[in-house]
Amino acid sequence: MIETAFEEMERCCKFMNLSITAEELAQLCEALNMSDRETGNLKEVFKALERKKNEAIINTCLKLSRLPLKEPKTFETFDFSRLHGKDVEKLKSLSSLSPLYEKKNIAFIGPQGIGKTHLSMAFGRACCEAGIKTYFIKATELDQKITAARRNDRLSRLVNGLIKSSCLIIDEIGRCTFDTENTRIFFDIVDRRVNKDGPNCMIFTSNKSPGTWEKYFNESDSLLCALDRIFDEALVFMMKGESYRGRKLEMFAIETQSTSRFLKNTK
Ligand code: ADP
Ligand code: MG
Repeated sequence: MIETAFEEMERCCKFMNLSITAEELAQLCEALNMSDRETGNLKEVFKALERKKNEAIINTCLKLSRLPLKEPKTFETFDFSRLHGKDVEKLKSLSSLSPLYEKKNIAFIGPQGIGKTHLSMAFGRACCEAGIKTYFIKATELDQKITAARRNDRLSRLVNGLIKSSCLIIDEIGRCTFDTENTRIFFDIVDRRVNKDGPNCMIFTSNKSPGTWEKYFNESDSLLCALDRIFDEALVFMMKGESYRGRKLEMFAIETQSTSRFLKNTK
């Protein structure tokens, strides 16, 4: 079905938070005695404004994401031909952002230099380009930020910000150990994210198998079920091989249904 010029203008206006209907726009053009050509030109003006607004949203998302703006890591600049394994297609399909809508978390696990951070940033960038709120943070920075926020009485602000992002990327789990209070706060964030509406995905990178992650968090009882929630229906890409400068690279993906099973199996 082809959209009329008035319907297109209505859609552009809606995107710009202006409520005017196709009917009202048609009446306005009629009252102004506008020719078809003039109506067409007006539509082009609306479309240009819509593009501008879209660009502004993307730029804001990129700025707030903390992803590198210069030399960004993208799916386009990732050399998939270096990867082998039955699940490479699954990895490539991440660019569709389907895990975000299926509310599946993602973990990239593997040795240094293999492309884990690149892939997580590529996913984050694609989210920003779709106007989706994204936040990238290294686990060590997150730990420091939580500690600082606790001291400065700014914890709820930090936590709310981390919950708000539809895509939250936590890089290098296992680089530091969260103390008891920071662990509790971290899992509170995980918990509250699980229950939120709309597109939602957490991405983790680590060179440690998820089965050993409990070492990096200081809590025993509630930890396993919190990790369970992270990996519930998650996509876990176990990558192995040499670093980017190396030659051989194999890639395996495991899709988990139940995490406790996955955690036990990988211990
Ligand atoms: P990791 O996080 O696994 O330690 P990175 O993602 O930081 O590794 O990758 C190290 C460097 O190599 C980065 O500059 C990254 O862009 C690049 N790199 C790694 N794998 C690839 C790849 N398959 N194609 C393109 N660049 C890659
Ligand atoms: Mg990395």
